[in-house]
Amino acid sequence: MERKNRRGVGPDAPTRSRHCSKCKKTSRFVCSGKFRVNANGKHLDIWLIYRCERCNTTWNQEIFARVKPSRIDKELYQAFLDNDWETAKRYAGNNGGTRHEIQT
Ligand SMILES: [Zn+2]
Repeated sequence: MERKNRRGVGPDAPTRSRHCSKCKKTSRFVCSGKFRVNANGKHLDIWLIYRCERCNTTWNQEIFARVKPSRIDKELYQAFLDNDWETAKRYAGNNGGTRHEIQT
């Protein structure tokens, strides 16, 4: 079962400046547009993956940590599974302050 990611990472990829452990200095991390979803028993963890533009080291931006699957909108969850670019950009631009979204 393979899904196509029609909208690949474009020149509008969000970036984050942060310390890279491999470069040993502050580097620019570019949003890969890929989500990592970890279903761990009753909880879900979701990260958005970034890569250091110098050495390709990955950094995972936490989107949801230990949330109940029922608290996440089904369409949103599917967007995470599909690595939806629009969703990636939306969360990348959101400084981790996404928790309110699961209250709805
Ligand atoms: Zn690096």
